[in-house]
Amino acid sequence: MDTNILDWSEPEPVAPTPGFAPPAAAPVAAARAETAEAGDATGLGAIDERGGRVSVDDKAMINCRADVNQLLPLKYRWAWEKYLSACNNHWMPTEISMQSDIALWKSRDGLTEEERRSIKRNLGFFATSESLVANNIVLAVYRHLTNPECRQYLLRQAFEEAVHTHTFQYIVESLGLDEGELFNMYREVPSITAKAAWALKYTQNLSDPDFATGTPENDRAFLRDLIAFYVVFEGMWFYTGFAQILSLGRRGRMVGIAEQYQYILRDESIHLNFGIDVINQIRAENPGLWTKEFADEVRTMLRDACELEVAYGRDTMPKGFLGLNAALCEQYMHFITNRRCAQLALAPIFPETENPFPWMSEVMDLKKEKNFFETRVIEYQNGGALSWD
Ligand code: MN
Ligand code: FE
Repeated sequence: MDTNILDWSEPEPVAPTPGFAPPAAAPVAAARAETAEAGDATGLGAIDERGGRVSVDDKAMINCRADVNQLLPLKYRWAWEKYLSACNNHWMPTEISMQSDIALWKSRDGLTEEERRSIKRNLGFFATSESLVANNIVLAVYRHLTNPECRQYLLRQAFEEAVHTHTFQYIVESLGLDEGELFNMYREVPSITAKAAWALKYTQNLSDPDFATGTPENDRAFLRDLIAFYVVFEGMWFYTGFAQILSLGRRGRMVGIAEQYQYILRDESIHLNFGIDVINQIRAENPGLWTKEFADEVRTMLRDACELEVAYGRDTMPKGFLGLNAALCEQYMHFITNRRCAQLALAPIFPETENPFPWMSEVMDLKKEKNFFETRVIEYQNGGALSWD
């Protein structure tokens, strides 16, 4: 199997992971089988003073036998590179001015009631989704992903999800929105509830304290969770929401929120690509897991997720939305779903379709677009050095 099938071209702007190449599976699997009992997957076990030093061959994505507290030597450079890229993208929502958004939101006829409703539902979907994703990382994924360089990235990702949740707090506060309305939409708006409930069942499945990877059945349950959250939640469902708000921003409306969404989108594209690499690496190391039956099941997951998103699009913008409408969003979701299939080396689900929002990939390139919204971009890469005098 050619596992290095990742396609880094648009719509994700993130640079290819240098040297992403899953190593051969056999030595890892054999080593793991011999000493499966010896591994301490949590990293909180007693210190083995006579344990041998970790060699890269001992490292594994799941069910690892090597000490998970030793970052070096690195085995998965792609995970480390993503950690570095994420740190270079540091931003805070409060750096972005909301003045123009506040003026538009408070104006009597700057936005139609339909547009306000669509914007609020968009914000309401993201406001709690960022927490659902964070909880899944911290309470499910971190525990079962037994590799320190991947965990290093997860710690960074968890902070980014906190920044994203902060963004919605800042928007609610700036625009004077009803916080209860926004943060309860995932319970009160059926098309949002349907999505959250679909994903939650995959993380709830892992929340049993006795759940452990190490059997094909449980390893597949973990893969399903990774697919539900990284590929579907962050990799498919966020994209309609991004397209809606960025479409507004392109037309000079809600430009503060649009800029915040650009930053979130840049973070999310790394989250997605990290998730894809993790899934493909686990698959390469554990070739028995990815049976024909399992591949069919994953395709069904993506198909169902696409349907939920199309229903959400119809529900949240029944009359269209400044250059967008539910039909175009459906076409976009078919395009995105097929791309996710390709990234997982699965056959496409829908007939080949054009990307109806080719501008999305340009909007994601912040350097190129940074004057577009005529707002300030802080370059953390170049600043932030401490001075002691
Ligand atoms: Mn996020
Ligand atoms: Fe994310």
